[in-house]
Amino acid sequence: MELPVMAQQSKLKGLQVLVTADMLHKDWLAHVKRYVVEQENGVYTDKNQTCSFIIGTEVEDNRRVHQLIYLPDISSAETLREKMKAHGNLDCSLCGRPRIRLSAEAIAVHVESVGGFMGPAHAFTPYTGMFAHFESVEDCYGGMAKKIPFVELGLSADSDLADTIERNHQFSFLSSSDAHSPWPHRMGREFNTIQMKHPSYKELRKAVVKKELERITLNAGLDPREGKYHFTACNSCYNKYLVVDAEKLNWKCIHCTGQIKRGVKDRIDQLATIPSGKHPSFRPPYKHLLPLAEIIQESVGIKNVNAIKVQSLWEKYVKTFENEIAVLLHTPIPELKEVDAGVGEKIAAFRNGWVLYIPGGGGQYGKPIIAHSERDFEKKKLELQDTLQKEMTLHTQKKMGGF
Ligand SMILES: [Zn+2]
Ligand SMILES: [Zn+2]
Repeated sequence: MELPVMAQQSKLKGLQVLVTADMLHKDWLAHVKRYVVEQENGVYTDKNQTCSFIIGTEVEDNRRVHQLIYLPDISSAETLREKMKAHGNLDCSLCGRPRIRLSAEAIAVHVESVGGFMGPAHAFTPYTGMFAHFESVEDCYGGMAKKIPFVELGLSADSDLADTIERNHQFSFLSSSDAHSPWPHRMGREFNTIQMKHPSYKELRKAVVKKELERITLNAGLDPREGKYHFTACNSCYNKYLVVDAEKLNWKCIHCTGQIKRGVKDRIDQLATIPSGKHPSFRPPYKHLLPLAEIIQESVGIKNVNAIKVQSLWEKYVKTFENEIAVLLHTPIPELKEVDAGVGEKIAAFRNGWVLYIPGGGGQYGKPIIAHSERDFEKKKLELQDTLQKEMTLHTQKKMGGF
């Protein structure tokens, strides 16, 4: 995942601005400096000016909570690096997301001192999400809570879920990909549309903090059910559980003795104060997306998303219609069908909302199932509900049977 490749892939995906990530790491900092050209107002581009970059990073704090940090420019990243050096190993060979032996509050003070802003990354996930360890932003950031402008939703949550916790209504929501590879089923699998006069750090900050003229106009991303931690499930064999059963079993899986992890959905249920559907007035819509490669994969019936057949069809679509987001959301269906009738059908079904999900959990991604008609959708929905119910009630029955 190198900067020129990211720039090239962003164009195919339809993204105009990326965050560099990992900017506290010595080698990555050098890499970024080598490949970018400074434009103005804290925005950089690759040498071909294909894509703009904002400076940022993710760190883990002393409570294991992951924090997203946005910075005004490269020199502020260098200053922050100097301040953080004493508090963690910033340059370990496999980790661009260092562990910092400081509280979220102390990190926020440092970030503020270099002109940046921050908030919790994948805030609801078990292990490293803020809500796994804290009840609220106030609990996590103490005296710096008022300086936290956003909550990043992660793959397993969306605005509908997150806004059932009324305290979240004061924050902007960001939907970020957390991509570890530059390929389009990872990079840009989640994104934000932000209204700005032109890309700049200042306007990004205004949009996230003030939510006024410069504002976030769309959050887009996976259906939360596709996320790895949506349902409560075993972290080893991925069997799903109802929370009541998990509690009875003391969070030990009865199939493999692995640990059962509370899913994002159940954590949000625990904290929710209002039913789903209420949002603050500035909250943009949330658009659920499927990566095009996954739609093609399902259409051609190949398991591997990187298979040559899947990739060559993906390339054909993106080259014909400019970028992936255009193909998914805007290109007329008859034109899509001309390239490949089956894939065109699937994209039409996706736009009609005929998508079901075998929900993810315990660290395993969920899996989309695209129905071919409304009737088929309703039929598959009942089948899926039935299967899930069987899978989840089995645990209690087994236990009562002497397991
Ligand atoms: Zn993280
Ligand atoms: Zn298990």
